Amino acid sequence: MIYYNCSIVIHVLKVKRKSRLLMNIKKIANSNIRWALISMALAVIFAACATVPHTGRKQLNFLPDKDLDSLGTRAYSELLKKEPECKDQKINEMVQSVAGRLSKAAEGVDGPGFDWKVHVVDRDIPNAFCLPGGKIVVYSGILPYVKNEAGLATIIGHEIAHAVARHGGERLSQQLAIQGISSIGSELFKDTEGKLDNKTKAAIGALGLGATLGVILPYSRTHELEADRIGQLYMAKAGYDPQESIHLWERMGKISKSQMPVWLSTHPTDDERIKNLRELEPEARKLYEKAPVKYGRGAII
Ligand SMILES: [Zn+2]
Repeated sequence: MIYYNCSIVIHVLKVKRKSRLLMNIKKIANSNIRWALISMALAVIFAACATVPHTGRKQLNFLPDKDLDSLGTRAYSELLKKEPECKDQKINEMVQSVAGRLSKAAEGVDGPGFDWKVHVVDRDIPNAFCLPGGKIVVYSGILPYVKNEAGLATIIGHEIAHAVARHGGERLSQQLAIQGISSIGSELFKDTEGKLDNKTKAAIGALGLGATLGVILPYSRTHELEADRIGQLYMAKAGYDPQESIHLWERMGKISKSQMPVWLSTHPTDDERIKNLRELEPEARKLYEKAPVKYGRGAII
């Protein structure tokens, strides 16, 4: 009995030792797999790092620009079906002209090579955005807030800057990285027979389309300050006085929260961004001084 007991004890000890050994092997294997995955992820992240123009910030962006741009184009054509075009010729021409100058300036400064389009929506919603690939959408409802062409140039320049700096792609990359690249990445750009499914809508939200599709994902403070900086350069290059960007944000800062437009609710006004624009204004002014045509603050809207 004792022998058997001993034998059992020895057997148990052997099994325990064996299982410990197996566990250790598993642990090593698991940690190796984990390290391999981490290394692969780091390699992907490293390879996916892009540099933001003007600020030099490294950003995570592993979605190809052409895919993001085609998503922007799809969202834009979807929007054209839903949102009525502004028929007021004067407003349409003015917005088209300001946006045209801004997109030309963006190409001159950073050369994103976008296929630019501008759509003015006849709706009393204070909103504006630029989708990846250069699809600019301005709602007539934002015009009472901008006061003059330079104010509008500030907003369009800011939105274009988000697109050129690939902030939407960065947000989407961050979301995909959090949710697991494989879970939605492969399905994201599938054809949905011209209709947008929820995943695509969420992606579009990340890209900055926002209110019209009921998805608003605010940009980070870093993105906002970057878009202010780059947008100010674009408006100056287009011939609008960069000082007016400061005046616009000062005016926006005075709007009470209850009257705050949708666009502004995702673009918080604060002293930091005004201070940022003031500090950067001399750099933008150099471009303004060289602009072949100077519009100053432009026509009153
Ligand atoms: Zn913004």
